[in-house]
Amino acid sequence: MNYQKVLEEIQEEIQPYLKKGKVADYIPALANVKKNDFAMSIIDLDLNEYHVGSSQKEFSIQSISKVFTFTLALQNYSKELYKRVGHEPSGNAFNSLIQLEYENGIPRNPFINAGAVVTTDSLLSIYKETTFDYILQFIRSISDNKKITFDKDVYTSELKHGYRNLALVNMMKSFNNIENLTSSVIETYFKQCSIKMSTAELSKAMLFLANHGVNPINDEVLINEQKAKRINSLMLTCGHYDASGDFAYRVGLPGKSGVGGGIVAVVPKKLAICVYAPRLNKQGNSLAGTKALELFTSKTGLSIF
Ligand code: GLN
Repeated sequence: MNYQKVLEEIQEEIQPYLKKGKVADYIPALANVKKNDFAMSIIDLDLNEYHVGSSQKEFSIQSISKVFTFTLALQNYSKELYKRVGHEPSGNAFNSLIQLEYENGIPRNPFINAGAVVTTDSLLSIYKETTFDYILQFIRSISDNKKITFDKDVYTSELKHGYRNLALVNMMKSFNNIENLTSSVIETYFKQCSIKMSTAELSKAMLFLANHGVNPINDEVLINEQKAKRINSLMLTCGHYDASGDFAYRVGLPGKSGVGGGIVAVVPKKLAICVYAPRLNKQGNSLAGTKALELFTSKTGLSIF
């Protein structure tokens, strides 16, 4: 299949959608982006790459980081992790507090904020003060790029305005579902969210999930096949918060969004894709990014269904 041609068609057809939606500004530093920007990258299991738009420009990965930290948590934990975080869609906003109280501080899944905070806490219990470096090293290794780092302005901006996430972590601490200091947990979580990567780097970093947990770049087993399946299943059912059903319905691929405007997705046994367009829909997912992925699966027939 001529993926380059498909990407170029998508880039043309997506133009009217790039003006729709709103850039996230509840983290003020996130609003400092070119609002109508667009990039899309594909990499297949033979490491052939295809790109359109500003595919080498780095942006804030935000909640896409939850896939990487959950992978690291599953490298270390099995069933015991699921006592602390579930695997059901929440049907609520990514930063909702409501469900968390009546479900006794156990977040529905690892891809909403509360669940990602528990995941990060589980890593802090093992890696202590080296946790963020460990997360960063993992991301550098799977994207084959030692230069990846975090954006200090985005990090401090989120720390300054992160009242709701602080409320989530405090609520869970009150239910004994946070093991470490709330300040360390929230700082590590905000740092992982402020990591910046391009669509080219993110698509490469996701390849292991298209390949049963094995990194095709160096054949390293990053996670066993069953756990890789679970991560993909959770991306399909929970990767887009209260729009996860809509994303599955329109795109038909496991995927994960971030409020920075990125979405990653995988076509199992074939390829990984990343799209970037910073204006978001009401549920906090890239509006044009979702449409671009819908166009991709419609044009290629490469959905999982
Ligand atoms: N750092 C953001 C937050 O915690 C991540 C949210 C997201 O990308 N959906 O609010």
